[in-house]
Amino acid sequence: MSNIIGFPRIGQNRELKKALEAFWSGKCSQSELESVAKELRAKHWAKQKNLEYVCVNDFSYYDNVLDLAYALNAKPARFKNASGLEGYFALARGAKGAVACEMTKWFNTNYHYVVPELSADDSYKADASAIIAQYNEAKNLGYSPKISLIGLFTFFGLSKIIKGEPKEIYSKVKNAYLALIDEIVAKIPNVVIEFSEPIFVRGEKEVFGAAESSAFDKNEVASVYENIAKKGVKAIVSTFFEHSKEFTEILLKTPIYGIGLDFVHGEKNLESLQAIANSDKVLFAGVIDGRNIWVANLESKLALLEKIAQVVPKNRIVVSASCSLLHVPFGKDDESKMDKEILSWLSFAQEKLIELEVLEDLFKSSAPKAESKEFLAQNKAINSARANSSRTNNKAVRERVSASTLKARKEDFATRIKIQRENLGYGDLATTTIGSFPQTPELRALRQNYKKGVIDKNAYDEGIKEYIKDCVKFQEEIGLDVLVHGEPERNDMVEYFGEQMEGFVFSANGWVQSYGSRCVKPPIIFGDVSRPKAMTLEWSKYAQSLTQKIMKGMLTGPVTILNWSFVRDDLSRAQVCEQISLGIADEIDDLQKGGIRIIQVDEAAFKEGYPLRAENIKAYEEWALKCFKISTAVAESSTQIHTHMCYSEFNDIIKTIEAMDADVISIETARSGNSLLKIFKQVGYTHEVGPGVYDIHSPRIPSVEEIEAQIKALLEVLPKEQLWINPDCGLKTRKWEEVKPSLKNMVEATKAVRAKL
Ligand code: GLN
Ligand code: ZN
Repeated sequence: MSNIIGFPRIGQNRELKKALEAFWSGKCSQSELESVAKELRAKHWAKQKNLEYVCVNDFSYYDNVLDLAYALNAKPARFKNASGLEGYFALARGAKGAVACEMTKWFNTNYHYVVPELSADDSYKADASAIIAQYNEAKNLGYSPKISLIGLFTFFGLSKIIKGEPKEIYSKVKNAYLALIDEIVAKIPNVVIEFSEPIFVRGEKEVFGAAESSAFDKNEVASVYENIAKKGVKAIVSTFFEHSKEFTEILLKTPIYGIGLDFVHGEKNLESLQAIANSDKVLFAGVIDGRNIWVANLESKLALLEKIAQVVPKNRIVVSASCSLLHVPFGKDDESKMDKEILSWLSFAQEKLIELEVLEDLFKSSAPKAESKEFLAQNKAINSARANSSRTNNKAVRERVSASTLKARKEDFATRIKIQRENLGYGDLATTTIGSFPQTPELRALRQNYKKGVIDKNAYDEGIKEYIKDCVKFQEEIGLDVLVHGEPERNDMVEYFGEQMEGFVFSANGWVQSYGSRCVKPPIIFGDVSRPKAMTLEWSKYAQSLTQKIMKGMLTGPVTILNWSFVRDDLSRAQVCEQISLGIADEIDDLQKGGIRIIQVDEAAFKEGYPLRAENIKAYEEWALKCFKISTAVAESSTQIHTHMCYSEFNDIIKTIEAMDADVISIETARSGNSLLKIFKQVGYTHEVGPGVYDIHSPRIPSVEEIEAQIKALLEVLPKEQLWINPDCGLKTRKWEEVKPSLKNMVEATKAVRAKL
């Protein structure tokens, strides 16, 4: 029977989100929240009833990494009294006098985990009661459960060491982790545990670090899993999102029961087959993509399985999903509004369970069921319809991509910037913002009402215009140099563009958990992408008509649009991105022809797309860079191109950033002073830079003095001619009461610094 590592927990209709938010705002009790959770688990197990095991402990009230930290009592000192569910949420969301733990992306997904903080001062202690309770809950419903648990090495590797020697802390964490296993085994003899160790896909160098300072080595990995297996655990160790060849070798020497490998995103795992065959391990072969939403091509999956079976005996292969299904939406039941043809190409979590079941039957049974054969026939039809559909193959788009030759700006930066400075007339330390202004409840209501048909286009347009007018007026009043229209017409920086381009489709209920109760609904790129008509021109032109100052146009870049969508799997990501790039290029051209002289192309997710293994980085950088350049090449030398990125760690990628050749880049540096900016100086970066001078992620209003000090710190690194002054990200999540004084202070601080130069 087939296998998964985890199922989406937020609920078909985001029941968990709703219950959590009600609980946090005091509108429901803990026991009400708990009963929603229990119902969801039961419902999700029922869906998994035909798998070999149902997953337990894949459920979480907030995040699995946090669950494990909590089970090990790995709580930062500021939360030392945290207990129960309330204490758990305090770590994730902060509490009075204690800031929340940091959150960061789970490998190359858009799921965020809560980063554990470890310190030599803390002591760890296992408490497996929550895990055991969930196990019994499933058992009592008649299922055979398998516990999903984050592996020790992944847990430790993702943690932040606040104080102390990694080696010493590692050994304390390990003791607690092993005690947790002891506690589980004591209550559940012969327990099956699937350990998720995605950190292993990063390769040995990344996992072990420098030999002298490393907390552990190869032998330790072998010894821990040997230890665990000997406790009587039926242990499966799984990796995903890439291959993990080096670690497979190590794990095969231990007495674990099985090994889980991703054959969708880690083709090189095929190279481990002989070693697996030579061992006695069961191979959990991840062949159904847990990261994407397309109907699997069962024929080619069967071929892949047969290929594996040429080396590893069939009776030791379990058909599995490549990773937890957490990363795809629940199911297609509520998508009746979607185009029927496209809908037939999609497979969300509950549909993937059926694919797994059928695949296992076709692969393993000597006489597969009639339904399985019927399903396969339908699956073939769906896949061939998709492959031959004119909607996935737009001849005009394909021809345009292969014919396009414009791949870089016409003149070099030095020439361009001279022309731009003359034409645009801005001085040193020019002030601007990143694009969005507060998304007020009124604004959201306006967009909602328009969508629902409560108000007509005219009323909607008037509402948006009013907002833009207010934004422009405010920016003029405080004396900003380069203005923005405020992005009131956008719900989301990717969705807004996806909705206006061909080749995209949007689900009604295709939510995926991003963090805690927060979910996103990624656009789906199903076909060739093109831009039928201008997307932002009218609003930008309108905004420019209201002022003599320069109005900055605002676009989302091709790489970010790609990285925040579900991307078709029948064309390479590079090719899809190139198509998007040409659409953005068209928009830039329309804007410059329409009198917009500065255009910002946001690449918030450029860095997120970086591959997990060092050996693949070069290829990504090549095509991502190329796509950004295709988009912006159309800009005349006099048109100034800005880009924006929401992070500050550029040390590894500075050469690529430079090669993007944006005239101005605004980045997030407010939280790191000027230290992270130094790399720009080190490499002799010549283009202009706008390092954020204050942190917009907090409601705090920065004072004039504080911003002045920050600007001075920046001037220690880069000359005034090269610097722009701006906040560190868009302001849409803030309130006007915070934005107004903050920006006023920013302009004032800049003037004060300028006066002293
Ligand atoms: N222009 C966008 C905004 O200001 C950029 C947001 C982002 O980079 N995340 O909201
Ligand atoms: Zn940003």
